[in-house]
Amino acid sequence: MADTLHADLLLTNAHLATMSPAGEPYGIIRDASVAIAEGRILWAGKITEQPAVIAKAEHDCQGQWLLPGLIDCHTHLVFAGNRADEFEQRLQGVSYADIARQGGGIRRTVQATREASEEALLALTLKRARTLMGQGVSCIEIKSGYGLDTDTELKMLRVARQVEQHLPVTVRTTFLGAHALPAEYQDDADGYIDLVCNEMLPQVKAENLADAVDVFCESIGFSREQTHKVFAAAQNLGLPVKLHAEQLSNLGGSELAASFNALSVDHIEYLDEAGVSAIAKSGTVATLLPGAFYYLKETQKPPIELLRKYRVPMALATDFNPGSSPVCNLPLMLNMACTLFALTPEEALRGITINAAKALGEAEHMGSIETGKLANILQMDISHPNQLSYEIGINPLNRVWHQGRMLTR
Ligand SMILES: [Zn+2]
Repeated sequence: MADTLHADLLLTNAHLATMSPAGEPYGIIRDASVAIAEGRILWAGKITEQPAVIAKAEHDCQGQWLLPGLIDCHTHLVFAGNRADEFEQRLQGVSYADIARQGGGIRRTVQATREASEEALLALTLKRARTLMGQGVSCIEIKSGYGLDTDTELKMLRVARQVEQHLPVTVRTTFLGAHALPAEYQDDADGYIDLVCNEMLPQVKAENLADAVDVFCESIGFSREQTHKVFAAAQNLGLPVKLHAEQLSNLGGSELAASFNALSVDHIEYLDEAGVSAIAKSGTVATLLPGAFYYLKETQKPPIELLRKYRVPMALATDFNPGSSPVCNLPLMLNMACTLFALTPEEALRGITINAAKALGEAEHMGSIETGKLANILQMDISHPNQLSYEIGINPLNRVWHQGRMLTR
């Protein structure tokens, strides 16, 4: 009996889309079972190859599919207010510049977020997190970046950290103090970067509020040199980095990020071959954000062929935010990545599972159905995983297990 597995739960009579990099497309294993113990996957494979299992509970999946919990690896989930009226004004012919002059745009979100209490921000954030969870999302990355002063940046990260205490979802936080220039520093971007590096970052680290550090490196954001300063400060504190890079132009941010072994570079519509080659060498994930591409009516597409040629892992995320991507829908990104960027449905699904886990430095623990990983598992009523990229708006989610525990829906 030495080979008998002792499990808390055995999921039987299922087809698996393990999303494991090895083997079949989607890591498909038909007629399979999954044994779970202490919140982790003990064994997964074909029923005919299953070792003897003594399980405290069993669940018959009735021939439906099991997938790893989805991961939204780039969101700005914490903010107050919305900008629907600006969306309407723009469609009535008012220019971005006029809206900005009236105090609109990101500065309005900053104002509302500064004024909101921690409780109010948390309530808004939990609502959004619940929406994602209802789509099968088991892990959400959440950035700061609408405070742009020390108190509010810390407040946003505290709110993000609190989500895990209220909901069965994993949260990874990212400090994005260098998101935009606050009005107080209008003509002193270097002064603001000093504040980010010398005041905000040490406090973020001291309170353990962030798992990574991000910067918006762009002509309308921060320069390569300023990004370098923030990355060096993060590295000194032992925090990994990621970057909003090459979204509107090519500043060489991705090459800089690669030199800091960044977890991911995100957006990257304007990334060139030198940049792709650099991130391939550093093992950095390319995170594509089709929601922002769509909302901004961008026409420059990310260099998918080059990313394939250099075997750079591609992740997908919502970039949920009140300005350029008010899209709280991760499965929709599958279809958008296929229709807008010509990803294959398998590449797209890898983008919100295993490669999203890589973009968060969490591939050891999540992103696929493999022995040793957290038992974040979805049961879906589909005939094949390619259906998830094909259909829009139908939610085939039947059951969710988070770290081995079934969630009631
Ligand atoms: Zn973003």
